Amino acid sequence: MKLPVASPGEVRAEAGELFQQHRGPLSLALSLHVIAAALGLAGPFLLGTMVDAVANGTSTTRIDVLAATLAACILAQALFTRAAVRRSLVLGEKVFAELRETFIARILRLPLSTVERAGTGDLIARTTGDIDALARTVRFAVPEILIAIVTTVLTLAAAILTGPFVAAGAIVGGPLLYAGTRWYLNRARQGYLWERAAYATLDGTVTETVDAARTIENLGLAGVRVRRTESDLAEAYATERRTLFLRSVWFPTAELSYVLPVAATLAWGAWLASAGWATVGQVAAVVLYMVQIVDPVDRLVSWLDELQVGTSSLARVVGVAKVPDDREPTGAAPDGEDIHADDVRYAYVDGQDVLHGVSLELRPGERLAMVGPSGAGKSTLGRLLAGIHPTRAGRVAVGGVELVALELDQLRREVVLVTQEHHVFVGTLRDNLALAAPSASDDELRQALDAVDAREWADALPDGLDTVVGSGGHSVGPARAQQIALARIVLADPHTLVLDEATSLLDPRAARHLERSLSAVLHGRTVVAIAHRLHTAHDADRVGVVEEGRISELGSHHELVEHGGAYAKLWESWHGRSPT
Ligand code: ADP
Repeated sequence: MKLPVASPGEVRAEAGELFQQHRGPLSLALSLHVIAAALGLAGPFLLGTMVDAVANGTSTTRIDVLAATLAACILAQALFTRAAVRRSLVLGEKVFAELRETFIARILRLPLSTVERAGTGDLIARTTGDIDALARTVRFAVPEILIAIVTTVLTLAAAILTGPFVAAGAIVGGPLLYAGTRWYLNRARQGYLWERAAYATLDGTVTETVDAARTIENLGLAGVRVRRTESDLAEAYATERRTLFLRSVWFPTAELSYVLPVAATLAWGAWLASAGWATVGQVAAVVLYMVQIVDPVDRLVSWLDELQVGTSSLARVVGVAKVPDDREPTGAAPDGEDIHADDVRYAYVDGQDVLHGVSLELRPGERLAMVGPSGAGKSTLGRLLAGIHPTRAGRVAVGGVELVALELDQLRREVVLVTQEHHVFVGTLRDNLALAAPSASDDELRQALDAVDAREWADALPDGLDTVVGSGGHSVGPARAQQIALARIVLADPHTLVLDEATSLLDPRAARHLERSLSAVLHGRTVVAIAHRLHTAHDADRVGVVEEGRISELGSHHELVEHGGAYAKLWESWHGRSPT
């Protein structure tokens, strides 16, 4: 499953709303740009007037006044441009910061099941590449395009006002520029996408080769990898050639279309002047306007390309908001600590249920072990009981309230899934613990550490609770990381825990040590243990056997052994082999 991408309409709506929200500062920045551009237009006009003045043999004082006015205009233009650029940059940063915050908020609200199904790669690409592309667009492309449009329109208008007949000569550049740019833009998108994909593949190959260097050496795969890298390089080279070819056609066309109006207005203007239809000054002014218009048009055209990239990134960023929420908190409070699952079904892939109507009632305070073959659905059921995934059909409720109807922080005070995936966040030890209980006092944090047997370790840290841990900070081994995770559970204090022992990567010594911490955390709580070792089952109050998405047997260890079903067979084969 892929994360959704917003439609062009939705992107337009989002962009429109952004413009709407910042209308005030945006109009201010634009007005400043208009004034600056207008001041810039005085140059050719004044120069044209000077040309006419000289041609007509006017006094030098008039020329001096014109020259002084020109200097003043240039100075004023510089000042207004500075203010305008400053305003637009500040606005761009502000809009981008808001976009990023909205995006982060949207990502944090994403249903976990969606993230798991879509994979994290897409999400990471959107938070890095797409946000970067968007930053360029918001910071530079949008302001540059707005300024370029304003400047182009004003310059054209000034040229027409100064010498309407002369300016008509400029038309020749239009069709060429239009045709060239269309040709380019139609092909560029595809070309750049291909280029980026080729480099992504090359990156992947090189990274993989470095990561697996030992394996490659052991298996004598160096030659294979080199050939693979070479073919990736060849592909990247081909894509570069392609986009270079596109640019090599487009750039000269664009350049030509900029020069043409200058030459055309000059030749055409000279003829008009000689025929008495225009003054030499008018021709000079219009030709200068044509020279001046090259810069904004060039910028406009080149940023258009960037704008396309930005729009497609915005579509991917906005798309994240289209994921429907899978929880509907109602504010209802559970009445009791009993958890019931009723006829629960779940599918990772539409139409392929992996749980086929499971019903289960957890008795407060009991320890229930779930056993069964790998792939039977134990972990999935565990996640449903902990409210990680909403059910596809049926319901899981605590104290009569469905898990999806609880606010997340409320849900975490009822039931928590404990896995051996644990993460130490970059920050102080206090921050790491307080995630679970933001209002806990230092004493409470220490008690929680005490409960999981990590108090001494924490007290011996260089700055105690203020020690920075996580990547780049004080290094925390896997066993300590697990203890921190367990201390978080003590702080969240849920009455029910779902324990997924799926992957034990810890060395046995650490495991034994941790088992003590763990049993302290489990004490006094209802526990569903997804068991991969049968002695967990033996010690449990009840055992549930999960087979092919159903609970096939449920009862105490002794009952099930007596019953002589699947569990009895498992136990027999395991017990026969094991010394304990
Ligand atoms: P168990 O914990 O008993 O080994 P699981 O609950 O992990 O079983 O898996 C039950 C079924 O669901 C399996 O067929 C497995 O392939 C499938 N499954 C588990 N996780 C996912 C997932 N993230 N996406 C798709 N299918 C999954």
